[in-house]
Amino acid sequence: MGRLFILLVLPLLLFGGSVKPFKWNNGESFLTFLERKKLPLSLYYNLDKDDQTLTEDIPYSANCQMVVNEKNIIRQILIPVNDELQLQIYLTKKNRYAMKVTPIVSEEYTETLYLPIKSLPYDDILKATGSKNLASVFVKMFKGKVDFRKGFREGDPIIIVYTQKYRLGKPFSMPEVHGAMVGINGKKVTVYRHKDGRFYDEKGAQYEKFLFKIPIKNPRITSGFTKSRFHPILHRYRAHLGVDFGARPGTPILATGDGRISFVGSSRGYGKTIKIRHSNGLTSLYAHQKSFRSGIHNGSKVKQGEVIGYVGNSGLSSGPHLHFGMYSGSTAINPLSVMKKTTEGFSGKERKIFIAIRDKMNKIFKKALAAKPVRKPYFDFHETYYVDPDTFKPKPF
Ligand SMILES: [Zn+2]
Repeated sequence: MGRLFILLVLPLLLFGGSVKPFKWNNGESFLTFLERKKLPLSLYYNLDKDDQTLTEDIPYSANCQMVVNEKNIIRQILIPVNDELQLQIYLTKKNRYAMKVTPIVSEEYTETLYLPIKSLPYDDILKATGSKNLASVFVKMFKGKVDFRKGFREGDPIIIVYTQKYRLGKPFSMPEVHGAMVGINGKKVTVYRHKDGRFYDEKGAQYEKFLFKIPIKNPRITSGFTKSRFHPILHRYRAHLGVDFGARPGTPILATGDGRISFVGSSRGYGKTIKIRHSNGLTSLYAHQKSFRSGIHNGSKVKQGEVIGYVGNSGLSSGPHLHFGMYSGSTAINPLSVMKKTTEGFSGKERKIFIAIRDKMNKIFKKALAAKPVRKPYFDFHETYYVDPDTFKPKPF
């Protein structure tokens, strides 16, 4: 105990400050956050319009980190925007606050988890790994294929092969599951992730059915989705958390899928915006509108293809276009990754690639069934790091 105390407390004593993890509040704007922390509002106003808009995409409950010195003066705040970029506020050597969009330095590990079922897969995975994300991805993968509440016997195996990112010593963001298997009453059910990021069964039939449609007629993409891209001219990291469709002002905007309006209103960056909540935990966003269709209000039900508003140039926009975003929970995902697929099943080269992925996974499953590699729980320790705003490298204090 004594040694543990020294290990945990000594770095803090040396540094004479502390790390305060916090979660981004739902509905908090970047400006109100700066006000609350008594930080200069110029940190926001000095950003260009793209980065100002980016602050509206901080996912609520994002795991943020604040480092303060012994006088409780903020030395650093890290606010992840997604799993690749963060907003970094820091005290410079001249004792002024500055802010940068910096890449998140993370380590990635691919792990194989073997678990005998004890209660419910969700609970068992959560207990073994501490990762709610992994548990929910697993359940989603088998949705409609396996009923975990009945049919299996205690001790039936679960295997998951996944890549997890670690930031400052802790797992963060969604794990990328490459394949999973459950043994249910002696029968094996498997799911494989193809290179398109979607899940398929052993025959290559799709597990997930996406029923979303492009929200505009005659779509012309002017800017694609990117989580993090280094801008060679601006010499900065940028993100674009949606897809832009160039269109004339007044062009009708169509609901991408059935759902319920969860937001109609205005923000500084996105301008006139509508959000639609869909049944599968996804939310779509339509920004920079000229006007909303009359009768559209919070809580109203919409059908796929229904007109919800009209293309415009409101907010921080540099010309009429529709910015179309898609969110899983509060995390931005590429909207095109959940659009309806035109072809079903694999053929030709695509089929060969899928079979290679499937066979490789099957080998890993077989090995795991024999070796039973149970993943140890994640270690939860204090983050005592400072991220260098120039090299982006985290340094322990
Ligand atoms: Zn955009």
